[in-house]
Amino acid sequence: MFELEHIVNPLLKWFHGHARVLPWREEPTPYRVWISEIMLQQTRVEAVKPYFERFLAELPDVSALASVEEDRLLKLWEGLGYYNRARNLKKAAVIIRDQYQGELPSEVSLLMQLPGIGSYTAGAIASIAYQKPYPAVDGNVLRVISRVMEDHQDVLNQSVKKQYEESLQAIMPKDQPGAFNQALMELGAMVCVPNGAPRCEECPWNTFCLAKKRGCIAELPHKAKKKPRVIEEKTVLLIQDEKKVAIRKRPNKGLLAGLYEFPMLEGICTRDQVIHYVEQLGFKPIYVGELERSKHIFTHKEWHMLGYTVRVDELDRPGSDVDLGGFELIETRETEADYPIPAAFVAYTRYLNIKLGNSKYQ
Ligand code: SF4
Repeated sequence: MFELEHIVNPLLKWFHGHARVLPWREEPTPYRVWISEIMLQQTRVEAVKPYFERFLAELPDVSALASVEEDRLLKLWEGLGYYNRARNLKKAAVIIRDQYQGELPSEVSLLMQLPGIGSYTAGAIASIAYQKPYPAVDGNVLRVISRVMEDHQDVLNQSVKKQYEESLQAIMPKDQPGAFNQALMELGAMVCVPNGAPRCEECPWNTFCLAKKRGCIAELPHKAKKKPRVIEEKTVLLIQDEKKVAIRKRPNKGLLAGLYEFPMLEGICTRDQVIHYVEQLGFKPIYVGELERSKHIFTHKEWHMLGYTVRVDELDRPGSDVDLGGFELIETRETEADYPIPAAFVAYTRYLNIKLGNSKYQ
């Protein structure tokens, strides 16, 4: 039987010698830890860094976040994906401002009542910002623990995650819970990595790791097969004149809620079908050109897209009563500054010279 407490001392020693310098680690206030942990969900550290700096510069505290306009918030988040994370940040900030005098609570049970905060994020805030002995179990931690103990249970099963949380809580060093949790995450990110071979020769556990000893690293963590993603085909249209382009705000609920999109047709359309659609809208296309195909992967579905650029003479002719089906005609400059467009369209925004997310600042 593997004694999990063996992992603690070698891990902390390794972490104190190898921890990366990260902007949110320098000053781990509850607000900064919270924002960074939400940004880091599903997103690489290197990609998050500039977002984090910009976000904190513009929204330095709970009260600024609670009162930010949604479009501005989504613009700050543009390109990070999973936009409900940003909306939940604002919802939670309003509650923290109104019910907790602007200070994040330190108890995991209270943190978990806030929108967008699950057991992992609550544990990270409580342990890193408040030094409370709560575990923070994410995908990295599930991987390293399942390997070191050679556990073949399905790590996607919530009861397995709960088991890990309880086991880690029992061995957590009470004097440095924040360092312990960060060390586990760091080991998963830097040494016992998710893709490719782990760097066992650099690992502080390599003398006793059971997966290494028994040669089954590649089988762990075990994840039961998920349903395949649904594939949806779309045709994306960049309908534009000299200055403007047609975009529309998506509904406030569902996929990419509240973000802006280009006109889209279901399925992959031919050039003739596109011309027919644009003519139905009352425009005379001057030029219709096929762009490349692109793919965007969401959690449960994939969009396989084909783009067209559609040049028309004038989009908003004075006196025109053309119904654009809810589309607004926006100068492309304004689009970049004020209208959040999801990264799903990144293959096509470059044809309009619109930069999204981080690329805007490069
Ligand atoms: S020894 Fe290798 S497999 Fe085991 S925890 Fe370390 S890096 Fe992962």
